Amino acid sequence: MKNSNETTEYVPLNFIEQIIEKDLKEGKNNGELLTRFPPEPNGYLHIGHAKSICLNFGLALKYGGKCNLRFDDTNPETEDTEYVDAIIDDVKWLGFHWPGEVLFASDYFDRLYDFAVNLIKIGLAYVDDQSAEQISETRGTPTIPGKESPNRNRSVEENLDLFARMKNGEFPDASRVLRAKIDMASPNMHLRDPALYRIKRGHHHRTGDKWCIYPMYDFAHGQSDYFEGITHSICTLEFEVHRPLYDWLVDRLKDGIYRPYQIEFARLELGYTVTSKRKLLQLVKEGYVSGWDDPRMPTIRGMRRRGYTPEAIRVFCNKVGVAKRVNVIDPSLLEFSVREDLNKIADRRMAVLDPIKVVIANLPENYEETTLAVNNPEIEDAGRREITFTREIYIDREDFMEDPPKKYFRLSPGNMVRLKYAYIIQCTDYKKDESGKVTEITCEYIPNSKSGNDTSGVKVKGTIHWVSARYGIPLEVRMYDRLFMVEDPQEDDERDFKEFLNHDSLNVIHNAIGEPSLKDVNPGYKCQFERKGYFCVDSDSNDNQKVFNLTVPLRDSWAKIAQKMNN
Ligand code: ATP
Ligand code: MG
Repeated sequence: MKNSNETTEYVPLNFIEQIIEKDLKEGKNNGELLTRFPPEPNGYLHIGHAKSICLNFGLALKYGGKCNLRFDDTNPETEDTEYVDAIIDDVKWLGFHWPGEVLFASDYFDRLYDFAVNLIKIGLAYVDDQSAEQISETRGTPTIPGKESPNRNRSVEENLDLFARMKNGEFPDASRVLRAKIDMASPNMHLRDPALYRIKRGHHHRTGDKWCIYPMYDFAHGQSDYFEGITHSICTLEFEVHRPLYDWLVDRLKDGIYRPYQIEFARLELGYTVTSKRKLLQLVKEGYVSGWDDPRMPTIRGMRRRGYTPEAIRVFCNKVGVAKRVNVIDPSLLEFSVREDLNKIADRRMAVLDPIKVVIANLPENYEETTLAVNNPEIEDAGRREITFTREIYIDREDFMEDPPKKYFRLSPGNMVRLKYAYIIQCTDYKKDESGKVTEITCEYIPNSKSGNDTSGVKVKGTIHWVSARYGIPLEVRMYDRLFMVEDPQEDDERDFKEFLNHDSLNVIHNAIGEPSLKDVNPGYKCQFERKGYFCVDSDSNDNQKVFNLTVPLRDSWAKIAQKMNN
């Protein structure tokens, strides 16, 4: 795999790279770099996580460092090995590797417990018997200081005893918490004696029933970073206000000069979609999509099934850059990256999505002529395949018009068009049904007009794709549109984001016809249907029925926008 900068363009250093280069130059951490990607295994990864993965693993690649994959598995209620396995697979699929084993915050439960005991011993943590409501009521507001808990000044012995009994399962769930003793008047709410441990019975996917107390995210995260020797702990902006607590805790844990530093960047938000595991889970549970891997989902699973490539996703993530302020990225930028990559690697094939039969009347009934079609004009050695031209073929409905406007260069009564890799044909007649729908077109081919050695002297402006009626195979083609109708479905807190779902985001075509070479392709195979777009064979395919997903249409709306911006 190439390194994080898969483009050769000059890109200035982002602010995180500047920090890292400075640290490396100053010989901090012995000139080493260790980052981590810390997913919570409570859902499948989405495009926002892809950004974080590309950033963390990408920085390690760029600066000769390493990046750990560590699960932040501190909440047994919502976490599952199904998600663990899927996340590991997704990170690998994106093309990244970590040193050694996959890591888990739960690997550190004993050390975290010991650290908590130490904090109690030095008078910096206490067991609070107040209910969650009481604790939240007495926290104050950013401008009003909080009230100290009546349990705040318990003796070390009492705290040690109560905490051990919390661990031993003597108290009901949520009846007590361990809190850090920091400052109930701090302007930073996260420093007002934050909870470090809670009582929660639940079967943990790795530690089973060993624990009934679990560390809070803030208590587990920075300490796990420290245990692993993480140098730069990169996370999203919502954790900026947690940083003083992160620092407070690691400063009390560290024993030497090394300690990890947290750096925040803005989340990646993609327009016309949602990137929150909780919301994505709702779409799955309530049946708005077929699953986490529905090709309309912004999940890595969904994008993969849709036909997006890891290369395209990595290029996209690099292109959007790293910022301190959230900006919503238009999905057409992602589509642009996908299209650019597929243009280089995908075979060209012919398929007709809305077929009309064309009969070439001046050819004999059983006429067959085999020609060679180019697999990929972008690749020199992509080779050619045979396609067979016959008397009856299918073309796409939109390539014929009864009453065309002036600059319509496709087929219309009396007019000529070239069939790709074959002959020029001229429309002589057509049939319609009662509803006025065109059902069949009659043409004549122009002798000596064969593509490549045309000696007919006839000139035409348009070339269209076609499929032999005798040899074409039936295809199911799933056409996708954006999942949401508005750019930011999460903007309005008052309204349910599902109100903005696009109910036409899936349109299944059952009667498409593809060239015969498509018979032998497997799920994951990607090709360009000439003049239509890039498509990928879906996992629902079987030997009798090939199912294709629209990956991305050919029309390059982003390039037009970009061009406009450059002019
Ligand atoms: P969600 O909001 O979707 O539930 P999360 O932040 O709870 O996501 P985690 O599993 O905790 O999910 O995320 C793992 C890592 O991915 C974290 O470091 C988090 O900051 C990062 N991450 C999550 N969403 C985004 C995003 N939209 N853009 C960039 N990084 C993200
Ligand atoms: Mg999170």
